This record gives sequence, structure tokens and C-alpha cells, in this order.
Amino acid sequence: MTDQFISRESLAAADAADPLAAFRDQFDLPEDILYFDGNSLGPLPRATPARMEQAIRQEWGRGLIGSWNSHDWINLPTRVGDKIALCIGAAPGEVAAADSTSVNLFKLLAAALRLRPGRKTILTEDGNFPTDLYVAQGVRDLLDDGIELRQVPGDAIAASVDDDVAVVMVTHVNYQTGAMHDMATITQAAHDAGALMLWDLAHSAGAVPVALNLVDADLAVGCGYKFLNGGPGAPAFLYVAARLQNDITPPLSGWMGHEAPFEFDDVYRPALGITRNLCGTPPVLGLTALDSGLNLFLTADIMEIRRKSLALTDQFMTLVGNRCAGHGIVIATPRADTRRGSQVSLRHENAYPIMQALIARGVIGDFRAPNILRFGMAPLYLRHMDIWDAVEHLRDILENRAWDQPEFHTRAAVT
Ligand SMILES: *Cc1c(COP(=O)(O)O)cnc(C)c1O
Repeated sequence: MTDQFISRESLAAADAADPLAAFRDQFDLPEDILYFDGNSLGPLPRATPARMEQAIRQEWGRGLIGSWNSHDWINLPTRVGDKIALCIGAAPGEVAAADSTSVNLFKLLAAALRLRPGRKTILTEDGNFPTDLYVAQGVRDLLDDGIELRQVPGDAIAASVDDDVAVVMVTHVNYQTGAMHDMATITQAAHDAGALMLWDLAHSAGAVPVALNLVDADLAVGCGYKFLNGGPGAPAFLYVAARLQNDITPPLSGWMGHEAPFEFDDVYRPALGITRNLCGTPPVLGLTALDSGLNLFLTADIMEIRRKSLALTDQFMTLVGNRCAGHGIVIATPRADTRRGSQVSLRHENAYPIMQALIARGVIGDFRAPNILRFGMAPLYLRHMDIWDAVEHLRDILENRAWDQPEFHTRAAVT
């Protein structure tokens, strides 16, 4: 819907016809805010507090240690993983919920290098999320084996895979710009050169349709606390294609990845399947909250989510173009539907204080250094009318230089 004449009325009509409208009520959102940060921390699903209360008071409080068996806590990583698999086009048994995205990147990068002995290059994208780059640098330095981390511009990745590349590590949707890669093309290029493909789905899972099996992806990681609404610091996930699972040598060979942890054998023997990628005791409460977020998410149709997400991002960019012109805003997100995820990013030299002024008015997005205002679009609770209201606040703040107050220039620890 590229409509140059978007009106308040047309957005109200879109809300009235929205097949996802009822989902908003499933979230415990404050009344007086517009929440554009579900790509950084998803909001609280209404069902989660009662589920947590039960997990804490009954499963932990009454069941105590017996709940590892009676409530099957021990299999939570794969039970929750199977639900995540449904969100990312993977099969049951190919995903585990565990650790953080950073730790999972470490595990899978190290495993990938061991699967391609002799190859010395990790290929990634300029401007990939810092933790992806930092973890790759750490793996490189730890192995001390001539491994090189090579960064190229996003549009040069497919053409840059050569026979020295062991693994191509790419974030599907860029955290800064919202630009989205073509998974099939890049995965194919990696395979044509004999490399493994590792996708970071931090800004994809729960936001855009992902088909890991269809594109024949080897490895993937992603976040539980963003679009999957698993709560602050929720466990992340990792995916290993079934065909590779028993060839993986886990670099973090903890007891939860052992074939038989409760035999307490002195010698490590990796479990078969995805389980060998687990390390320590699962975070039961975090997994329970993530499970609750997934139960809600899985009642929605991802194609409806994508349709609405494209409409929201398109409307936002069109309205910013129409109503905020002349104030130095540059839209950083690609206009083509196939090229963007579920966020809109705007560049402005005063991005930080502008975002603080928006937040002070209840329009919650975030700032990414050096000059990006980020607006995540989560179709399960955002309304088309919210787009209108957010852009009106932005226009007013720009026109009246309302951002230029001392309090909006002070940087907090988390931006
Ligand atoms: C959010 C995000 C992460 C987060 O990693 P944590 O280990 O959960 O802090 C990693 N990679 C990308 C691309 C992200 O957007």
C-alpha cells in the first residue's frame, strides 16, 4: 500500500478491518504510550504473570526438585525449541532454547570452523551487530589457528564466498537499518563454495516469515526477548539442521549436552541430536516466560503478521516523507517490500535528543549510535492509528525544536 495520501481516516479504516486487531488485548501495555520497541524488548503477554505465578508457587514452591521430572523441566530447552522451530521454518528437534544469542553464536561458530578444517575465513557483513563481530573475534583469537574474520558490504556477501570460507555469518535483518537479506541467495552462494551458513535471526524470529529448511540453512541463532515476547533476558535459541547435528563437536561440552548426564560418567560423550548444544542447567523460569510468549505468538498467522508489518512500515515511511520534510530526516530503511524487515530507521544528526523528546511524550522507540532513530513495528499490538500519532509527535518535535532541551541531551546507560 504505497498511498501518498494517507489520512487519519484511512488508517482508522485499516484498524477496523485488521484481522490481527484482537491480539492487542492479549498484551499488558500501558494505556498512555505507543510502543515501537518490541524489536528490543517485547511487551508482557497478559497470560505470562499467572503462568509464572504457577511455575514459582506450584512447580518450584510445592514440587521442589521433583519438578525436574513431574513438570518435565529437564526437557524445556527442546520443548520450547520445538515451538520456536514453528516460527522459523525448522523441523521438530532442530532447535533448542538456551543461553544468550552471543553464547549461541560462540558455540555454533566454533563448531562450524571444526566442520570445515583447513578453511580459515569467517565471512560476515560490515555493520553486523557488535556482539556477532565481537564473538567472531573472540573465537578467532581463542583458536589461534590463522582464522581470519573478513567483513564485506552487505550486497557483496554472496559474491565474496570463496574456498577459504568455512562459515558465512549474516544477520538476516540489520539491526540499524532494518534492511533484510535474501536468505535463499546467500545460503546458496555459501553452499556453492563449500561453506556453512549461519543466520542470526534476532530481528526476524516473530517478525518476518523465515524458512530455514526451505533455504537449506545449516545453522542459526536468535533472540527470545524481542519479537517473541519472552521477557527481559529471555533465553535465546540455536538451530542446527538435522543432517549436521551428529557431526557437531560442541566447544562448551557441559553436562546438559552429555548423552547421559545422570550417569555422572567422567568422560564427555555428546548427546545425539540438538541436545549436544546445551551446556548447563536450563533457566526454568526464563524458559517458562518464553514458552508463554510463544503460546500467544503461535495463535497468529505469520503471513497476516507480515502483511500488516509491511503496511505499518510503509505508512510510517510515507507519512514521515510527507509530513516531516525539510528537517534533515533521512529514511535509512529500504522501500522495497522484499528488502526490509519489521522496523523503520531514520537518520538525523540530532537523533538522540529527538528520540528522548519522543519518549517523553510516550512514543517509545530507541536510538542506535551514531545517528539512528529506530521504530520497531510489532503487528500483534500496534495499530495503524499509532503510526499517525507517532509521526505527528515527530513532526511537532522537529518543527518546534522541542528536542533541544538540556534534559534530552543526557545519555543514559542503555539507549
Ligand atoms: C539483539 C541482538 C543480539 C543480542 O545478543 P544477546 O546475547 O542476547 O545480548 C545479537 N545479535 C543481533 C543481530 C541482535 O540484534
